[in-house]
Amino acid sequence: MFQFDNTYARLPEKFYARVAPAKAPKPELIKWNTELARQLGAQAESPSERELAEVFTGQKLLPGSEPIALVYAGHQFGHFVHQLGDGRALLMGEVVDPLGRRHDIQLKGSGRTPFSRGGDGKAPLGPVLREYLVSEALHHLGLPTTRSLAAAKTGELVYREGALPGAILTRVASSHIRVGTFEYFAAQQDLENLKRLTEYSIQRHYPEIQNDSEAYLHFFRKVGHAQIELVTSWMALGFIHGVMNTDNMSIAGETIDFGPCAFMDQFRFNQVFSSIDQFGRYSYSNQAQITLWNLSRLGNCLVFLTDHGSKETAEMLKEELDSLGTLFGRRLASKMVRKLGILKDEQPQDGDLVSQWLRYLETQRLDYTLSFRNLANLVESDADLSFFERTGAFQDFYKLWQKRVQNQDLESETIKEEMNRVNPVFIPRNHKIEQVIEAGLRGDFSLFHELSEVLKKPYEEQEEFSSYKLAPRPEQVVQATFCGT
Ligand code: AMP
Ligand code: MG
Repeated sequence: MFQFDNTYARLPEKFYARVAPAKAPKPELIKWNTELARQLGAQAESPSERELAEVFTGQKLLPGSEPIALVYAGHQFGHFVHQLGDGRALLMGEVVDPLGRRHDIQLKGSGRTPFSRGGDGKAPLGPVLREYLVSEALHHLGLPTTRSLAAAKTGELVYREGALPGAILTRVASSHIRVGTFEYFAAQQDLENLKRLTEYSIQRHYPEIQNDSEAYLHFFRKVGHAQIELVTSWMALGFIHGVMNTDNMSIAGETIDFGPCAFMDQFRFNQVFSSIDQFGRYSYSNQAQITLWNLSRLGNCLVFLTDHGSKETAEMLKEELDSLGTLFGRRLASKMVRKLGILKDEQPQDGDLVSQWLRYLETQRLDYTLSFRNLANLVESDADLSFFERTGAFQDFYKLWQKRVQNQDLESETIKEEMNRVNPVFIPRNHKIEQVIEAGLRGDFSLFHELSEVLKKPYEEQEEFSSYKLAPRPEQVVQATFCGT
């Protein structure tokens, strides 16, 4: 099926542990992502469902697969944990696709590893379905993310708040190197392996800088830019990751480790979903500060690489971090402004317009996604204003906004089209995911398949699926999302 070409498993033994996947009593395929398989260069033969179920629950190892559990450390809610690692996941191998890009193929929920601590290494069905849907949705929305190649049931029960069906997600990532991987070696002052990890990461993700004289500093900048692009795109879509611990931040700038994540329905600056985020550390707005905080943790590791932590290197990294902070603000402003249909000559006052709009949404408790989509209809002057509560704040905003977009010397139709290219109709709404999970627990995956189809074209009106675009009714609102690990 795949030609494996494993490089991480060639790194020193300190980087991972070799582990075999656990036995699954009755593997059953839920979903196989044929489009993604094709992109990865899977050979044309079409495997049977039975074979796919066995492969993607780890019961049958593909030739060349070398399962390893990766070790890393991380700051969890601000507290350093010196050893975490893949406690319920195994990297099965790496595949180079026909375009020459390298991908990790990982099973999540495949049993205990030396890094499981108290956990069972398993995954219940719910979080597997959630991660499948949300990661694929982010991809189709145009964001960098790990992807989902397969979901399968193991036929085993796992015990959480009660007995739940066990499942395994097969995810694809451009790598699983995290800020926490750097912290693991830095905390042990293992300079040799820290250096190896950095060189490996540069070669794998940012080969264009490998011969630079200040490669470590450039690496920091590259990771910073990638993470800023990612988090500003999350924020533009109203996405809240939920657990931005440093072990959940990929140095490739992909969304990784979907736990209690969610897209916002009603807009709130301080929205939190995660049941474990009691103090709102990873709330919608805080995602900006946290990105920079996480990057500062990476910077602290990289300092060790030059002259054993010279003051000069620390200064340079600090300066870089400051410019990353400025960049974050600029990138976010620019994406938000575009969502409002401002396509030319961005000005500082445009930021005020964005704030005015968001404050209005928050005060009126409006749905974030639907509001942007409906605003696009108002570019044309004979537009229907019925979606919006015409408060004083709205009228003030509307007047300024109309003037601003019309002054661009662009056709209204063009502005509307451009807005609709960045403001989706369909997002994986939390209440819909809950319905999918409930049906899945009854053994009915038709909703799961339907929702994953709808989310393949998030920017297109799909009349027959209009129920998926609706905001939840008050009784459908999901207040907290559980890790469910
Ligand atoms: P997370 O932030 O949810 O990705 O997980 C934090 C750490 O806990 C990682 O090292 C995971 O591998 C580990 N972990 C989470 N759930 C389990 C589980 N059910 N069994 C073993 N380890 C787990
Ligand atoms: Mg994690």
